Amino acid sequence: MAATLLFFLNSAFAEDIGWPVFFNNHAGFSSFPPSNSNKGAVLYDSGPSFEINHPWDSALISGFGAGPGIILEFARSDGQGHWSNWKIGSLHVFPQGRFWAKVSIGSGSGALRVRAVSNDPGSFFSMEVIEAAVFIHSPEQHAVSADSGASYQPASFKQNLAWPKPLIHSRREWHARRPIHPSAPSHPHYITIHHTAGIETHSLSSTLKEVRFIQDFQMNGRGWWDIGYHFLIDSSGHIIEGRPENVEGSHTEGFNKDNLGIALMGDYNPPVDDHLSRAQMKALVALVRYLSYKYQISPNRIKGHRDYDQTACPGDEVYALLPRVRELDSWRPPLEFPNQTSALLSHLKQPILWDASSPR
Ligand SMILES: [Zn+2]
Repeated sequence: MAATLLFFLNSAFAEDIGWPVFFNNHAGFSSFPPSNSNKGAVLYDSGPSFEINHPWDSALISGFGAGPGIILEFARSDGQGHWSNWKIGSLHVFPQGRFWAKVSIGSGSGALRVRAVSNDPGSFFSMEVIEAAVFIHSPEQHAVSADSGASYQPASFKQNLAWPKPLIHSRREWHARRPIHPSAPSHPHYITIHHTAGIETHSLSSTLKEVRFIQDFQMNGRGWWDIGYHFLIDSSGHIIEGRPENVEGSHTEGFNKDNLGIALMGDYNPPVDDHLSRAQMKALVALVRYLSYKYQISPNRIKGHRDYDQTACPGDEVYALLPRVRELDSWRPPLEFPNQTSALLSHLKQPILWDASSPR
């Protein structure tokens, strides 16, 4: 039953970086303990993932703990029990212990398998894989005709409440890299909510490091020009500047034009099921209010990623809260938010104060 469900998830829903991959009922999570072994020894073998029945040519994994003491190798099945030769992935390791690794393996469908081989006899290490995904390599490029924002029609909406600008931690604070290519200018008419499907962080310094990691992962792993999101929000409610809000992002394929992407840092979908914190929800509402006033964005243009595409993003928990996020005017801070979604929803039964002419 569980295997069937995971297979279904794997087949039906992508995430922002690609199609999630699940191993051995561990849903993409696997770890192995500190080891001490000879060079060339296989320290970890994921075994075959569930079958992936759509084409892919690249795989990305990310997690904690891998270092120069190991080599990560990848293989793909042909769906009939035959495996490709092992191919060494490029490994990128960060000071806070985060790593990501990528392999390009030619196009085909079939299961993924990952193994770690010792490259440094006697070294101790452990490794935990947080995310594994496969995708068709498609570097960011100008695709004006493919993005639907061009059909935008001005609405009769008017947001009169001048919500203040919340504190936003700048790119300078997290030592952002410069974009490798300038993005098209953007005139925001839409807001799309995402989750990172990555880790939750619990201090500003770890958040800033993680955002830098995400930028590297998305630029060098995924081939995007810069970090894809315009804003990120951590579990403490810190708001971080991503791609500048006056240029086009890379977060909702086919719908990036004039669309601001906000990512909640964490994974709010089964099987991980992180919980949105009160501080995170309050920061999201404060940011959406501010942007909706600044750009006169009506509530029906504030959506979740899954409203545009077959994706689990922004996770069931966040998606269930979006109707409340759209009721911008009815929120009166300070509000107390219990952590559980159901209690949160019942807590917020307040009238909608949008003008009747607002499109919804
Ligand atoms: Zn998304």
